[in-house]
Amino acid sequence: MHVLITGGTGYIGSTAVEIMRNQGYEITILDDCSTGHADSVPQGVRFVQGSLLNPVEICDALADVDVVMHFAGKSLVGESVEKPDLYKRVNVDGTRNLLDEMSKVGVKKMVFSSSAATYGQPQEIPIKESAIGAPTNPYGSTKLVIDQMIGEESRRRGIAAASLRYFNVAGAMHCERGWLAERHDPETHLIPNVLRSTAIDPVKIFGNDWPTPDGTCIRDYVHVIDLIEAHIKALETLTDNHHEIYNLGSGDGFSVRQIVDAASKATGYAIPTLDSARRDGDPAILIADITKARKHLDWRPTRGIDVMISDTLESIR
Ligand code: UDP
Repeated sequence: MHVLITGGTGYIGSTAVEIMRNQGYEITILDDCSTGHADSVPQGVRFVQGSLLNPVEICDALADVDVVMHFAGKSLVGESVEKPDLYKRVNVDGTRNLLDEMSKVGVKKMVFSSSAATYGQPQEIPIKESAIGAPTNPYGSTKLVIDQMIGEESRRRGIAAASLRYFNVAGAMHCERGWLAERHDPETHLIPNVLRSTAIDPVKIFGNDWPTPDGTCIRDYVHVIDLIEAHIKALETLTDNHHEIYNLGSGDGFSVRQIVDAASKATGYAIPTLDSARRDGDPAILIADITKARKHLDWRPTRGIDVMISDTLESIR
């Protein structure tokens, strides 16, 4: 099977490329390298350096492809609050272009990287896929609009699709070329920031007055390798005319302070922290109900928070 992986030079996409290549999938990558890294492309993988905003480049990347795994997009909550138009253009308009080009060349299967940010501040924890979408930031809004767009495409054109709503993806994967890990600049994600914290430049804790037991936000972390395994299961169970939405998380929540404590245990020293203001757009608690992915995809995450932290630590050492 020939898979187009958009965003295949980024953190999650490059892990997908590595795992799927090892399983014998033929792969083409489409990536503009705006946040990814061309040096992550393995030998023997076709690489189209191009943008979702350029239909000609998308069409080139789609040559001989059977299915699209769509990871490309802007993904930072804080940045989306500052630049909502950029998020709409790249995420929503870019996906529209991709769906239109797929339609022209007859590619009818897609697995999409959606997000728990589509739910906003949830009414019920853990969050089920049936929860009402009420995003609290432009990033989440773009992902919700795309999920709806793909649903419509499935009804209208019969495409087989899955939207995978990621909770907090963490960890890293070791391969023959070294570590595939988060390499964002600036890094905004909690675990890499905690592990890079120093006394001079301590990690900021965004709010200590949230309605949670220790006052810091609670998130549900899932290892990037487990996450990609779910993508492959979703890909292999795509059904014509169907668009399914699955939550991908662990089903467990950890507060920011619990992550700092687990990281302190892993490093052997107390991670320095600085209590700071809340970050715009953050909900207090996000924990996934992963019953649907467990049942329908026969998927279960197997790598816990300690593995996510130790892999990230190894990758930055
Ligand atoms: N966070 C923090 N300090 C940081 C980065 C993140 O306190 O340097 C908090 C953030 O407010 C959120 C949680 O950690 O509650 C996870 O944030 P991250 O950016 O990793 O992922 P998000 O939940 O935004 O997808």
